[in-house]
Amino acid sequence: MIRGRYAPSPTGELHLGNLRSALVAWLSARSQGGSFLLRIEDLDSGRSREGWISTQVTELETIGIDWDGEPVRQSERGDLYRAALERLDRAGLIYECFCTRREIAEAASAPHGDLPEGAYPGTCRDLTTAEREECRTSGRPPALRVRAGAARIAFLDGIHGEVEGVVDDFVVRRNDGDFAYNLAVVVDDADQGVTEVVRGDDLLDSTPRQLWLYRELGLDEPSAWFHLPLMLGPDGRRLAKRHGGATIEEWLESGRTPEGLISDLAASLGLAEPGSECPASALIPRFEWDAVRAAARR
Ligand code: GLU
Repeated sequence: MIRGRYAPSPTGELHLGNLRSALVAWLSARSQGGSFLLRIEDLDSGRSREGWISTQVTELETIGIDWDGEPVRQSERGDLYRAALERLDRAGLIYECFCTRREIAEAASAPHGDLPEGAYPGTCRDLTTAEREECRTSGRPPALRVRAGAARIAFLDGIHGEVEGVVDDFVVRRNDGDFAYNLAVVVDDADQGVTEVVRGDDLLDSTPRQLWLYRELGLDEPSAWFHLPLMLGPDGRRLAKRHGGATIEEWLESGRTPEGLISDLAASLGLAEPGSECPASALIPRFEWDAVRAAARR
């Protein structure tokens, strides 16, 4: 059974590009007779706002997306994330990192073997007990990082083909105590039985890290991954107001209808004619990954 999901962070209105990813994730699941979940990724306590949850839910409903069951909220699932961290810790795969953002940026700008640019170079990986104690007493709270050993992980993406990445020692719990996105998304997708991940390709580089976690935690991996490109305006530039709106609100303010928006989003994916007015449900029987793949490569 296919199970897809959409997992927005409630840090603002949904951009049309986010809605397009949600639409494709939903169409793919529904066109295969699968289920579809909505998960609220409200872990970032500094940036998430309660009010954005209802705004985003309304935006998704406006374009005709539905989901099965009540949406889960990551802020209520701390016990699951804590248990996963404990498992990693017992396996010796976690360490405390006391680096500041600035120290990381400075260290990461120097080349470090196989690691990708910007990757954490492992400064705190092998602190002695005495050094660690000194950092602790300095009062700086530590983040927790995994000991990934620059593992090389490849996977097949339905848009990008074979993708390979080197996994750095990424953060699983931030130094403000919040669980990190990569940990929570893996624990949740596995716990919720998600089989298909469709999302923006800004997260393509995170997938090897997530696969590393699935494997170390012994969790079932999704069987299909699709990372969609950023949605651009007809002039090839980042979508903005001058293109008729970058958010639903701007779009509707310019006098257009939700059906017009859906068909324009679908047209950008090769699934509808531009300018036609169609409800999202009419796209289910027409949905084809081949069309989306071709449109994504244009
Ligand atoms: N919450 C993440 C975001 O809004 C997306 C997570 C995912 O789809 O894996 O960028």
